[in-house]
Amino acid sequence: MDIKIVKTTEPKTMPKESELGFGQYFSDHMFVMDYEAGKGWFNARIVPFGNISLHPASTVLHYGAEIFEGLKAYRTEEGNVQLFRPMENIRRLNRSAERMCLPVINEDDALEILETFVRLEEKWVPKSFGTSLYLRPYMFGNDETLGVHTVHRATYMIIASPSGSYYKEGINPVKIMIENEDVRTVRGGTGYAKCGGNYAASTRAGERANKKGYSQVLWLDGVERKYIEEVGAMNVMFKIDGEIVTPELNSGSILPGITRKSCIEVLRDLGYKVSERLLSIDELLEAMKNGKLEEAWGCGTAAVVSPIGRLMYDDVEYVINDEKIGEVTQKLYDILTGIQWGKVEDKYNWVHKL
Ligand SMILES: *Cc1c(COP(=O)(O)O)cnc(C)c1O
Repeated sequence: MDIKIVKTTEPKTMPKESELGFGQYFSDHMFVMDYEAGKGWFNARIVPFGNISLHPASTVLHYGAEIFEGLKAYRTEEGNVQLFRPMENIRRLNRSAERMCLPVINEDDALEILETFVRLEEKWVPKSFGTSLYLRPYMFGNDETLGVHTVHRATYMIIASPSGSYYKEGINPVKIMIENEDVRTVRGGTGYAKCGGNYAASTRAGERANKKGYSQVLWLDGVERKYIEEVGAMNVMFKIDGEIVTPELNSGSILPGITRKSCIEVLRDLGYKVSERLLSIDELLEAMKNGKLEEAWGCGTAAVVSPIGRLMYDDVEYVINDEKIGEVTQKLYDILTGIQWGKVEDKYNWVHKL
């Protein structure tokens, strides 16, 4: 691939690693590539980070044709930089593109772009355990007309944000509210695509939960409001009477998380029974009432795992595992972060060294 590189003449300085937070600072450069129907992808370039200009009729501004990905570059104790299952993100990006009528990118090209970009921004990968360089690939439709149709012009970009440890103050279980008003997506909708529109539509429920003192909502399915789907913008898992249960992906309304997939593989490897199946709110309430719900946690790239300490439904609050992180949740955290930051042997071949 031919990637043109224009280096910044004003390199920034990295903020203190203890003050990074999430998504607040950006590295020196960004990747940009254009698409036109009939011509394909062209003009791949890495340029100084900065504002972009769009036509006022640009498709993304009116009809929301936008998809994104999220992954991290990790620094090992030896100082090397590595990615975690990047091909999974690339394949998911293309599945999202297909759903939203955006153009797909050749998988090998997409990987080469990612590698070239991260190598150039290497100094922005922070050093301490738990910190990382968060990578945000995204694509949007950019036709300069108000006509509604599949896009003819698109832009693919990657920006990078050095991010702090998610658990600076230790892993504290969160309080979650079961949402029975708004739904995130429906069968046949865009739930399995990582698109901005899903986030725009689910922000209201999250805000309402925050106001009531909960950190996120547990989503129920959009048809019957009966089956559990996700927690906030994470996949969700439960340990019920020894069995690990996570919602199945069949309905197309659940985002196929790479952390979810990795958790399932690790758990099965450890000998746990993991079921991907429908889990109704009634079954969950029953398990909470009779003490069979042993652990509950969300999983996603940002937090890896996030234990759930309290669940609220219809104004009744249920406490899970004494509001402590459970044994399985802790094990998953140790194994996955261990592989990502290079402290645990990667027997799955998930790490992609740069
Ligand atoms: C990104 C995302 C996840 C988690 O996916 P990972 O690949 O594990 O980071 C889960 N649910 C939603 C809605 C998401 O957008």
